[in-house]
Amino acid sequence: MKKGFIRINSELCKGCGLCVTACPKALIRTSSKLNITGYHPAEYTEREKSKNRKCTGCALCAIICPDIAIEVFRD
Ligand code: SF4
Ligand code: SF4
Repeated sequence: MKKGFIRINSELCKGCGLCVTACPKALIRTSSKLNITGYHPAEYTEREKSKNRKCTGCALCAIICPDIAIEVFRD
């Protein structure tokens, strides 16, 4: 299985939650913190360097994001 990871730019995120529902592995949640514009941003729940990552780098989260806040990296 291919592996990847994502980075979410929390200051670009408007907290719409589309990526949270789009991730087939349920790896994204809505943060309880607020960003500078007052939204609860999405946050990725895995560590980039973890060997046990479930992210496949499928990019569904990034494709659905209307604010281009997600970058996808593949191993
Ligand atoms: S790239 Fe795919 S598996 Fe990884 S966080 Fe985004 S939707 Fe989930
Ligand atoms: S889809 Fe984009 S704007 Fe919406 S919560 Fe996810 S990262 Fe934020």
